[in-house]
Amino acid sequence: MEIPAILGGIPVRDTKLYYAHQYIDQDDIDAVEAVLRSDYLTCGPAIPSCEKKLCEVTGAKYAVLCANGTAALHIACMAAGVGPGDEVITTPMTFAASANCALYCGARPVFADIDENTYNLDPDEAEKKITDRTKAVVAVDFTGQSVPEDRFIELCRKHHLVYIEDGAHVIGTKYKGRPNGSFADMTCLSFHPVKTICGGEGGAVLTDSEEYYKKLLLYRAHGITRDRTQMEHPDQGPWYYEQIALAPNYRMTDMQAALIESQLKKLDIFAARRKAIKKRYDEAFSRLPQVTVQKEIPESDTVRHLYILRLNPDRLNIDRKRFFEAMGEENIVCNVHYIPVYWFPYYEKLGYKRGLCPKAEKLYGEEITIPFYYAMSDKDVEDVIRAVTKIATCYARN
Ligand SMILES: *Cc1c(COP(=O)(O)O)cnc(C)c1O
Repeated sequence: MEIPAILGGIPVRDTKLYYAHQYIDQDDIDAVEAVLRSDYLTCGPAIPSCEKKLCEVTGAKYAVLCANGTAALHIACMAAGVGPGDEVITTPMTFAASANCALYCGARPVFADIDENTYNLDPDEAEKKITDRTKAVVAVDFTGQSVPEDRFIELCRKHHLVYIEDGAHVIGTKYKGRPNGSFADMTCLSFHPVKTICGGEGGAVLTDSEEYYKKLLLYRAHGITRDRTQMEHPDQGPWYYEQIALAPNYRMTDMQAALIESQLKKLDIFAARRKAIKKRYDEAFSRLPQVTVQKEIPESDTVRHLYILRLNPDRLNIDRKRFFEAMGEENIVCNVHYIPVYWFPYYEKLGYKRGLCPKAEKLYGEEITIPFYYAMSDKDVEDVIRAVTKIATCYARN
């Protein structure tokens, strides 16, 4: 056994490896350059072209590109009619945006606990939180694994709730053989550079409903319409449009849309590589009693966005913080996904208390996100495995 780096030994790597990184090739650069040389930098043809490609890839009927994944969640809540006095059920094991979208609309996020094996929002826990005020459920496909769609569809139908899927991690994943994107009433995507498909910034809402689609278009851009059928006053001429609602400017540029469309052409190769790395990690880490590998439901054919390792506190002499630091000493820069949303001071001041979702809180205390992305080399993957194995073995408690 080598001496651990934290005790003065040689680190597993001499260059740093980060938890996520985008992959950009010459085709991506050419696609953006072509837009820069064209007439339209915003509101141009790259937007509908990319939206069409998104529909092809996800099987959704309509796609509305917007500024980022957070904006997508916001306009989805607006289209769902979420407003003051309403409650929106979501998971605490997510990025704050999944809950903030309810607050933006004046509604109250209600947190329901996760399934302790899959780490996804547990439909039974969500059901327990339903009240007369519940308007919508925001289910997050955590790390890219599909939530149990059948259960959430049934739950939302039974209680007349709008089902919004935060699919920021999910692109490429299939549930029961069908791509995630047309199960929920609206599915929100993100194209942040750490996600599977990169647009710099970017987001989209997918839907099969024409009614939601029209609202999403309106809420993407100021609440302004040029659609005659939506106008209240007589047409005053070719310049005429009306603002019929209040909404932000959440438009995406054509440069971003061109980049996203170019990236989407590579989704299959991205997916295959991510699946191969996930398989190799699962194999290696399931042999280590010091860690637990995330479980998956058989219905989800997952393209992972993140890879989470759960440390087993009774098999290790160090805590998560020390493990995280030890990985850093091996030049492997980890992360933690996520701090339970209601632990943030902003939420505390709104009256949320710790202890609300014990399974999510326990996971937070024990998890670590290790490097996982398309562009990792086989050597990078093996380095991560060596580092985890080294630390887990050095600090094993029997
Ligand atoms: C990234 C992410 C978002 C927000 O997306 P942005 O494009 O960064 O605004 C929302 N929800 C989850 C679960 C995410 O991971």
